[in-house]
Amino acid sequence: MTTVAAYAAPAAKAPLERTTIERRAVGEFDVLIDIKFAGICHSDIHQAREGWGEAVFPMVPGHEIAGVVSEVGPGVTRHAVGDRVGVGCMVDSCRTCENCAAGLEQYCTSRPTWTYNAVGKDGKPTYGGYSQKIVVDENYVVRIPDGLALDVAAPLLCAGITTYSPLRHWNTGPGKKVAVVGFGGLGHVGVKLAHALGAEVTVLSQSLRKQDDGLRLGADHYHATSDPETFERLKGSFDLILNTVSAPLDFPAFLSLLRLDGAMVNVGLPEEPVQIPYGALFGNRRNLTSSNIGGIAETQEMLDFCAAHGIGAEIELIDASRVNEAYERVESSDVRYRFVIDTSTI
Ligand SMILES: [Zn+2]
Ligand SMILES: [Zn+2]
Repeated sequence: MTTVAAYAAPAAKAPLERTTIERRAVGEFDVLIDIKFAGICHSDIHQAREGWGEAVFPMVPGHEIAGVVSEVGPGVTRHAVGDRVGVGCMVDSCRTCENCAAGLEQYCTSRPTWTYNAVGKDGKPTYGGYSQKIVVDENYVVRIPDGLALDVAAPLLCAGITTYSPLRHWNTGPGKKVAVVGFGGLGHVGVKLAHALGAEVTVLSQSLRKQDDGLRLGADHYHATSDPETFERLKGSFDLILNTVSAPLDFPAFLSLLRLDGAMVNVGLPEEPVQIPYGALFGNRRNLTSSNIGGIAETQEMLDFCAAHGIGAEIELIDASRVNEAYERVESSDVRYRFVIDTSTI
């Protein structure tokens, strides 16, 4: 076992503080990663505050992890010491169910082992990326291509794959019109990816405050949802609406923007149930659906795609001591566009 410096929430809603945690000894198929950067995902905040239900404390959040391999077990073949690697939302799964066999470990029928706020196969709690080292089975570690800097790559491990997987699943490409709802940590990466995939991209944001950034990062159009005319003007126009907002929305209004057989995919998870009148789906045979991160192979595909297209997250790099302040700023949408912790400051 190794003792590692980390930032943890000791209890629900408590501020995060510096502490130490134990990492398991490197097993036959494990890699030890020196974490360099860890992104702050909005879901870290939901979980540290128990917004999604009972959680495991103390909690070391962080599932946007980028670092360098510093040790490998004797059976490891996929990674070597010195490799630049990433870890996302999962560190294990059953590996035998039909979804795992299909490379869709995120939908493991026995549920994947989440990177933190979970219990691993060894019966011990998992601890995430706000720490200096992590030990992970090699099959749940992906390679970060040389063309991608580690700091801007870190958020891709959640924000990147969370938007890439639905864009690919719903066939985003040339000739398709895609709307991205919300222009924050997920949304800005979604815009870059949809643009690089060849779609015509529209941002639907509460205001036009970030319009210049949206257009610069790949959007063709940018509209304010606070303006009722937006919904009149864009009625029936999108093949896909990627909703990255985790607060409840006026779903019927957004659904009215879909063309025949269009889909609205929700990747933000509100803390409260939402009500949808079925009438909002009947016209245009609309689909209302969701998507949860992506499998390991698709995460690798996404990183390779990002490297080929020069896509990283837009980040604000912070020292670990500013994590609580960063949480407050994420809650008030005051970040352009992802906080990333420099883990050397833990
Ligand atoms: Zn996340
Ligand atoms: Zn499985």
